[in-house]
Amino acid sequence: MDLLEIKTAGDPVLKTICTPVEKIDKRLRNLLDKMAETMYAHEGVGIAAPQVGISIRAAVVDVDRKTRYDLINPVITAREGSIIDNEGCLSCPDLFGDVERAEKIRVEFINRFGKKKTLEADGLLARCIQHELDHLDGKLFIDIAKNITKGKKNSES
Ligand code: ZN
Repeated sequence: MDLLEIKTAGDPVLKTICTPVEKIDKRLRNLLDKMAETMYAHEGVGIAAPQVGISIRAAVVDVDRKTRYDLINPVITAREGSIIDNEGCLSCPDLFGDVERAEKIRVEFINRFGKKKTLEADGLLARCIQHELDHLDGKLFIDIAKNITKGKKNSES
């Protein structure tokens, strides 16, 4: 499978507010699969459609390499607590910074087969989902992170 090109900070597509997905079809599922392959190839834990140049509200997340979530038109409907942790991003190579996020979230989304789903998440999964949803609103973690450093770390999304 061909990998997709990852857009990096400075590309205007990463600053664009994405439009809702209207049609869930084979073409969209193919895109989600390619996004996932691209994410795995770069050892990321999440990837959002604008990171591959497509301004639609879709993201793929897999933080434990066991459960992959395809999030279509995701909306966070509940947040609890607050926690600061180090983050990276496939679109901001080698940059890491501390970001304050909700500790627990509830997210509603449509899955790859058009079914409405609700997911309660905490830990890295909650952080990753919040990071990806920011991408859908044209926000990068480097805009909100503190103590940004250059270097290599594991979990990039
Ligand atoms: Zn990112």
